[in-house]
Amino acid sequence: MATLSSLTLLGSTGSIGASTLDVVARHPERYRIVALTAHRQDELLFQQCVRFKPRYAVLLDEVAATRLAQRIATAGLPVEVLYGMAALEKVASLPEVDTVMAAIVGAAGLTPTLAAARAGKKILLANKEALVMAGQVFMDAVRAHGATLLPIDSEHNAIFQALAGRYVPGGYAGDLAASGVSKILLTASGGPFLHTALTELQAVTPEQACAHPNWVMGRKISVDSATMMNKGLEVIEAHWLFNAPADMIQVVVHPQSVVHSLVQYVDGSVLAQLGNPDMRTPIAYALAYPQRIEAGVAALDLFKVATLSFEEPDFVRFPCLALAYQALQAGGSAPVVLNAANEIAVAAFLAKQIPYLTIPRLIEKVLADLPVQIITTLEDVLQADAAARTAAQEFILR
Ligand code: NAD
Ligand code: MG
Repeated sequence: MATLSSLTLLGSTGSIGASTLDVVARHPERYRIVALTAHRQDELLFQQCVRFKPRYAVLLDEVAATRLAQRIATAGLPVEVLYGMAALEKVASLPEVDTVMAAIVGAAGLTPTLAAARAGKKILLANKEALVMAGQVFMDAVRAHGATLLPIDSEHNAIFQALAGRYVPGGYAGDLAASGVSKILLTASGGPFLHTALTELQAVTPEQACAHPNWVMGRKISVDSATMMNKGLEVIEAHWLFNAPADMIQVVVHPQSVVHSLVQYVDGSVLAQLGNPDMRTPIAYALAYPQRIEAGVAALDLFKVATLSFEEPDFVRFPCLALAYQALQAGGSAPVVLNAANEIAVAAFLAKQIPYLTIPRLIEKVLADLPVQIITTLEDVLQADAAARTAAQEFILR
């Protein structure tokens, strides 16, 4: 018998948010939505409120929240509308909620996701930036408060599955090597510019960068996939989730995005998880774990896939990947700075303020300019984040 689970969905109007609601809607006997949240998309959030009737709807933006509250009142819906960061943290830690989908994009998701950890929730983590920024602080909170951490990122969800019971989702602190794992093989599609002539990269547009060959995603992660910073962030994410040193995590370019990642063992075995590139699979796996539920995803047709290919990553074409490995090795504030500089660079590229190739240049410069600081608290994280954002903005103005 399935038990009823109560959910807060942070970032419900995004790509992961929509996929989560799609899976949830297939299993009304299992899942009840308590809170839906968004940045400022009150129109879409209103439609989601009509359909899912949450107890709370939260917007970061006050003006959008006022509009939403008016529409909710006119429609006579029993939904309480809140706004602001404190409200996001509140709905992430409500006593009546057991599961929190962390699907806000970027650093904005950190404090609500951390609030869920501190409240001991089951966290379905899509918001990789939170873990990249605050790795130690976040994992400590998960352990200290008995939270459960299940990866949504398709690669990490695949690794979780291929670790075959080794990963304990309560803030894993085990020794993978001692349990027979020799390598984590993190697959990467290579994005839309895997084979674009290097001379053409300078002129690529945000539209070209966001046209991912296999996945439909939000714009920030789409650009990250084009630069392969997404894979760099995922290396750091894997480091924290699986307690794995950087040299145990190997990136493998796999343009078909069918093998979502692999784990190599000392005896020569390699376990992989395969599937169509559809985020509803990892979402359903984490939602129902350890059970399996239908996710609306078409069965993988291996005859149609026909060929799976693999190649080594090109660190010259994708300098962001090298920068991420360097930041992980440097430790301390370096991953915070990497993430913050990347967020500013990607936003500037999407706003057509800087060309594509300036993204890695900017991140490299900010990393080089800011000395590595020791991080022990959330405040340290937020300070390093703010300093890196200021430095990145100054670079763009120059
Ligand atoms: P998206 O841009 O489609 O959606 C982002 C969501 O966060 C929206 O609901 C938006 O309203 C909300 N949001 C944005 N800024 C906010 C702020 N300042 N305060 C509060 N809420 C804010 O992004 P997405 O593609 O759904 O990605 C979400 C997260 O999941 C990212 O961290 C991404 O790296 C990760 N992820 C996404 C995919 C994917 O297939 N889309 C796959 C793996 C991991
Ligand atoms: Mg991924």
